[in-house]
Amino acid sequence: MKRISIAEGVEFLEAPQQESWLMNNGLLISGEEVIMIDGRFGEEETLAFIRENNVSRYFISHFHIDHASDAWRIAGETDCRPALNRTEYQYLQSSENMSRATGYGQAGVHKLVEEILMPRMGLQYVPSIGSYELAEIEAISKGQLLAVPAPGHSPGHYCLYAPQSNSLYTCDLGLDRFGPWYGFPHCNLNDFLTSIEKARELNAKQLFSSHRPVIREGTGEAIDRIKTIIEKRHEQVLNAWKKGRKTVKEIAQEGIFYQRTDTHGKRAVPVMCYWQESMVRCHLEYAGLHAEDSE
Ligand SMILES: [Zn+2]
Repeated sequence: MKRISIAEGVEFLEAPQQESWLMNNGLLISGEEVIMIDGRFGEEETLAFIRENNVSRYFISHFHIDHASDAWRIAGETDCRPALNRTEYQYLQSSENMSRATGYGQAGVHKLVEEILMPRMGLQYVPSIGSYELAEIEAISKGQLLAVPAPGHSPGHYCLYAPQSNSLYTCDLGLDRFGPWYGFPHCNLNDFLTSIEKARELNAKQLFSSHRPVIREGTGEAIDRIKTIIEKRHEQVLNAWKKGRKTVKEIAQEGIFYQRTDTHGKRAVPVMCYWQESMVRCHLEYAGLHAEDSE
């Protein structure tokens, strides 16, 4: 794993594999307390790193499966306490909360997620999960990191800005190959676009993120690309609508978001279809359109 200093007491932790669901990059903040924000480098490796560096709290940036999967193991096998942002921590506490927050229950795919995706990703619920405020990150880093709320990808999603090196930790804003993601009903395109704008205006000269190595050239363009992808998808959704596709299901089948829906196996197709349909809904809502198959 590569460690890159981005401010006094703040290091970026670059996972050995990028753009992988099983790993992600993180931050290590060594102040009066040592905390980690995300960072998954392999099951045993993550635990070993936490122990070696005396990390006392593990702040999960947002509740998504690729970020929250190590929490239960960290809670059970180290002295470090996992916590999630104030807006989302309850989602990870129980099956019922997760089902509601993601809309999986209502869509009838929650069982599939629990049977297929959760074991594959190693996610377990953590009834004892703690929570944290963004102000705590600022305080522990002694002001080296400024929290920038950036909802849209998830309701409690945020970025962290390090003025000292003019670096921005964009977390899961969508700089990687997968692009911006907003496949749950609580994702909001308006919020997402505002968050992208905010990140852009900081004019950072280095961009750090969850699933990509550091970007030092064309930082503005890298952020613009996220917006371009959303705009292109929006146009495609509107074109499908104009062609007479008046249901979310029909528009989703146009393959605007996923070329293939079986990348997690045949059984998980309904889950991917659900994500895709949720994204279509986000665009229709953004355009003020009402699909025939929406309540
Ligand atoms: Zn995410």
